[in-house]
Amino acid sequence: MRAFELYDATSIKEAVDLLKANSTKTARVVGGGSDLVGGLMKDWVHGKGLALPDVLVDITTIKELVGISESGGSLTIGAATTLSDVIDHKTVQDKFSLLSQAALSVASPLIRNFGTLGGNINQRPRCWFFRGEDFNCYKKGGDFCYAVTGDNRYHAIIGGELCYIVHPSDTATALLALNATAKIAGTGGERTVSFDEYFTGPRVDVLRENVLKPTEFMTHVTIPNPASGTKFGWTKLKDRQVYDFALISVAAVFTVSGGNWQDGRITLGGVSPVPYRAKVVEDFLKGKDIKATAKQAAAQIRTVARPMSLNSYKVDLAAGLIERTILDAPEE
Ligand SMILES: Cc1cc2nc3c(=O)[nH]c(=O)nc-3n(C[C@H](O)[C@H](O)[C@H](O)COP(=O)(O)OP(=O)(O)OC[C@H]3O[C@@H](n4cnc5c(N)ncnc54)[C@H](O)[C@@H]3O)c2cc1C
Repeated sequence: MRAFELYDATSIKEAVDLLKANSTKTARVVGGGSDLVGGLMKDWVHGKGLALPDVLVDITTIKELVGISESGGSLTIGAATTLSDVIDHKTVQDKFSLLSQAALSVASPLIRNFGTLGGNINQRPRCWFFRGEDFNCYKKGGDFCYAVTGDNRYHAIIGGELCYIVHPSDTATALLALNATAKIAGTGGERTVSFDEYFTGPRVDVLRENVLKPTEFMTHVTIPNPASGTKFGWTKLKDRQVYDFALISVAAVFTVSGGNWQDGRITLGGVSPVPYRAKVVEDFLKGKDIKATAKQAAAQIRTVARPMSLNSYKVDLAAGLIERTILDAPEE
């Protein structure tokens, strides 16, 4: 493995200063390192548009980035909080069970014990062409997406353009459904971005998956308290029963009145280069009897899907799982 410098930042300002001071080198923030160090760096995933890091800034050593707090109708989670701590937190379990379920479906207990929420949301794609050393794809600065002519059984069915990765993060799918916001720190100060705007597709910049600039990182995630009686649903379908990324995942957060859909969000993982908000399904359900229309509503996903040569099966799965997730969602 290539040598790198490691700095343990003790404050957000110190981390930003370290990223700025090392901006002529390739500097990255690191959480648990399960993807960045254990995956990308050890496997030498690099190219003209993706340099191997020279400098890592550890942000798990920043106290204010670790932990979960409630205030004024919302819950805030530090980006360096481990997934296990998110799962085990009583308020997360009681009020935001969707997030604890999604986090519990990530990887293995060992990885969840040191993998962080920020690392999970900002992990790089799992596409086998991106990770494979023989493929100089768009995401590494090349000029081709090998999924277009290659084995694309796990690739995007919605929103793929240029590059057909699917976003790998289960917690990102859940947090988008929960209408979360991300707090970001960088050389320009702090800013807050809703999860609706946080993730960006290949047309915006094929070399990244979110709005973060090179000297920025996510410091916190905030989730507004749901209205009372809100229903939550989470379904994740995997290829195998041991730990695995989502073939398709569905998160649903919605309110119901007299059996009719009032308001809510349905999001999908494993289908698109960004965690995908299924607005066509939400719009169809508005004001309608959920039991009577769930199947027809879920089928609306077919109107936006553009499957590739080997993955049209994912469109059928998505429709089936959306229907099941809505119908099975228990009240909180
Ligand atoms: C075998 C295996 C199975 C897995 N299965 C799943 C799964 O089923 N579902 C799933 O969602 N994930 C899965 N993962 C991914 C795993 O959950 C992530 O590797 C982990 O959550 C990342 O956390 P980390 O803290 O170790 O991230 P790191 O490796 O430290 O960082 C990952 C990336 O995020 C960036 N980053 C880290 N923190 C921040 C921050 N605060 N702001 C901005 N950027 C940041 C880093 O620079 C890096 O690019 C799996 C991983 C493995 C190895």
